[in-house]
Amino acid sequence: MSEALARRWLLLAAESIGARWQELTDLDAAIGDGDHGVNMDRGFREVRRLLADPAQSALSSSETLALAGRTILGTVGGASGALYGRALVRAAERLAASSELATDTEIVASALEAALESVSSLGRSAPGQKTMLDALAPALAELRSAATATLPFPAALAAAATAAERGVATTIPMLALRGRASYLGERSIGHQDPGATSSALLLRALADAARQSEATEVA
Ligand code: ADP
Ligand code: MG
Repeated sequence: MSEALARRWLLLAAESIGARWQELTDLDAAIGDGDHGVNMDRGFREVRRLLADPAQSALSSSETLALAGRTILGTVGGASGALYGRALVRAAERLAASSELATDTEIVASALEAALESVSSLGRSAPGQKTMLDALAPALAELRSAATATLPFPAALAAAATAAERGVATTIPMLALRGRASYLGERSIGHQDPGATSSALLLRALADAARQSEATEVA
C-alpha cells in the first residue's frame, strides 16, 4: 500500500464519516447510547487535521496508519475507539512487516487480517455476534478470493467493500452478543449494527481511494 493511498483513504474516510455521522449516531441510539457517529467524526476530524500538518508529510503508509490509530485511540472513546484504534495500530505493524514480493491485494488483506485479529482478541468477539466483525470478516474473505483470482487491486477493494455492505445487512436480524447492544437481549434484533455500518464506510472509502489513485496514475 503506497503512502499516497493510505493518506487518501483516511481523508476520504473522514469525509464519509463527516457526511454520515448522524446516521451512525441514530443507529447507535436505537441499540446503544447514541455516541458512535459523533465519536467517529471527532476522531477522523483530528486525523484529517494531523495529516494536513506539514510536519506529518513524510510518513510511510505504515506510519500514517499508526498515527491514525493512535489518534483514534486518544479521541474517539467508547468501545469502538479502542477497537478501531488498536486495529489500525496492528494493521500498521503488519504493513511495515509485509513482503515486497506480495501484491497490493495480498498486503491489504494481511493488514485487514491483523485488524480483525485485534478486534476479536480485544473484544473477545467473533462474526455472528452483531458487531463490526460482521462487516470486516466478509470483506477479508472477499479480498482473499480476489487475491487468488488476481483481480486488479481497485476491483478487489471494491468487491471487499460490497461484501462488507452485505455483511452490514446481515446484522439486522442478529441477536447482539457483544457490547452495549447485548444488554438489550432480544430487543437488539431488527436493528442494524452501528459499528458494522462504520466499518463498511471505511472499506468503501478505501476502495474509492484506490480507484482515484489509479485514475491519477493513468492520467
Ligand atoms: P459504546 O457502546 O462504548 O458506546 P460505540 O458506540 O463506540 O461503543 O461502538 C459500538 C459498536 O462497537 C458496536 O456497534 C459494535 O459494532 C462494536 N463493538 C462493541 N463491542 C464490541 C466487541 N466486543 N467486539 C467487536 N465489536 C464491538
Ligand atoms: Mg455507543
